[in-house]
Amino acid sequence: MVSSDGTPNAAYSLDGEKLKRNNKPCPRCGDGVFLAKHADRFHCGRCGYTEYGKK
Ligand SMILES: [Zn+2]
Repeated sequence: MVSSDGTPNAAYSLDGEKLKRNNKPCPRCGDGVFLAKHADRFHCGRCGYTEYGKK
């Protein structure tokens, strides 16, 4: 059975929203520049700002 009522699209949209929330904007550079996520911290490749994750 193949259903094309848009259920997969809804799941994909939710995933995209989650991914977007993981990208934190850089407090120094402002909106538009996002921090790159590392294992235990976020790093801005533009100004060098590093934010460590809270445990
Ligand atoms: Zn920055």
